[in-house]
Amino acid sequence: MTTAATTSELPVVIIGAGMAGLACACYLHRAGRLVLVLEAADAVGGRVRTDVTAEGFRLDRGFQVLQTKYPEVQHLIDYGALQLQTFRSGAVIRLPNGQQTTLVNPLQQPTAAFSALTSRVGTLPDKLRIASLAQHVRGFTSGQLLSRNSTNQLDTATFLRQYGWSEQIIDNFFRPFFGGVYLDRSLSTAANFFEFVFKHFVEGEVAIPALGMQQIPEQLAARLPQGSIRLNTPVSAIRELEVELTTGEILAAATVVVATDGTTAAHLLPPASEPLPPQWRQTTCTYFAAPAPAARPDKLLRLNAAPDALAHNVAFSSDVSSAYAPAGQQLVSVSTHGEHGLSEEELTARLRQELAAWFGPAASQWQHLRTYVIPQALPVYAAGQPARQPLKLHDTLYRCGDHTAYPSLNAAIASGREVAEAILSA
Ligand SMILES: Cc1cc2nc3c(=O)[nH]c(=O)nc-3n(C[C@H](O)[C@H](O)[C@H](O)COP(=O)(O)OP(=O)(O)OC[C@H]3O[C@@H](n4cnc5c(N)ncnc54)[C@H](O)[C@@H]3O)c2cc1C
Repeated sequence: MTTAATTSELPVVIIGAGMAGLACACYLHRAGRLVLVLEAADAVGGRVRTDVTAEGFRLDRGFQVLQTKYPEVQHLIDYGALQLQTFRSGAVIRLPNGQQTTLVNPLQQPTAAFSALTSRVGTLPDKLRIASLAQHVRGFTSGQLLSRNSTNQLDTATFLRQYGWSEQIIDNFFRPFFGGVYLDRSLSTAANFFEFVFKHFVEGEVAIPALGMQQIPEQLAARLPQGSIRLNTPVSAIRELEVELTTGEILAAATVVVATDGTTAAHLLPPASEPLPPQWRQTTCTYFAAPAPAARPDKLLRLNAAPDALAHNVAFSSDVSSAYAPAGQQLVSVSTHGEHGLSEEELTARLRQELAAWFGPAASQWQHLRTYVIPQALPVYAAGQPARQPLKLHDTLYRCGDHTAYPSLNAAIASGREVAEAILSA
């Protein structure tokens, strides 16, 4: 039953407690507006969740990091409270011939990072071009890079070739490195997003909260008054100034904000107001436990340039934050991008073989902990797709989320903030 309250007493009802919905709720609450966040799942965070196993491993649902200089994230999140733990800038790249090469600060100090020893990764002009792009992106704000039409019209692979990079460095460095960010080794993601991400690798650090990625949405949820988030509350329909739950309960709203993933938004919103549901990039994250190493950790990400590999990137997450694993153990996160068509058993067996070839025979004994298959990890952001889509659908209906912009925490938060600002100024 809808209550007979005046519109000013009613909350702004936000559907979805992912980063977009929580950001929107926090900005509205900070301005004194009543908010009610309805979340289908049993916790906040959406795609940013962490499970803690009985043994004490912290398993993020998919390998995910926070880039510290993302402007919206930096503005909203209290990094100190998260006790951010940083990866070392760079990566160890396993080349298709099985040799490994370590690149420290490859985008921050390209000429030093790609020394003669690492010439297999690319040519000297390739390395100079990285320095030149690093200089170039520093001259633009994030917003300027994202709104550049010339780069938006190109996919990343075409942009890299037009910039003059060799196939050698595209395959050995850009494909494993940025393919891991996009979950797309074909590099078909729009090049304005490439420049945006590149800038933030040049200027910032890559980090995880000490206790797992879910600490980020939990921090936002903790800023809201008690009772303003209802978990396990899926919304089934939206009507003028009210939402209907799957239980049949109807809640009145001053304004409705659809902050779900793009697929659900396309289902909830009137067909005329929402573009087609997004296409998605899939990833699979397989976690293993290994005995803790005696050596001091290098805190570098491992990337695989071999085109037919399944272990695309490997992170020893507990080397970066020791709370990710119980004492004496090491947490190994292995990401496989795209569809692989394998059962969990088949994938685990194939990964063990690859990891043993990569890290030595002991890796074949690593204990399999859990596998997360995430078919809807990132919305596809293709060349020509706008970096900002309309958020206001009519006077009392808005939408936000990464599907309205580009696939990143920064976009989810930005869209949530913009919706809050639009509601406050209405
Ligand atoms: C494996 C992985 C790795 C990633 N890596 C990075 C990274 O390194 N850096 C980065 O910046 N970004 C990364 N991302 C992307 C980032 O996590 C997302 O862009 C962001 O979390 C999206 O937030 P959102 O609020 O738009 O959507 P979501 O997180 O999808 O939130 C939507 C919420 O709506 C809820 N919901 C859905 N339907 C209903 C309903 N009917 N009723 C009520 N609630 C509903 C959902 O349960 C969910 O909580 C990664 C994502 C994944 C999955």
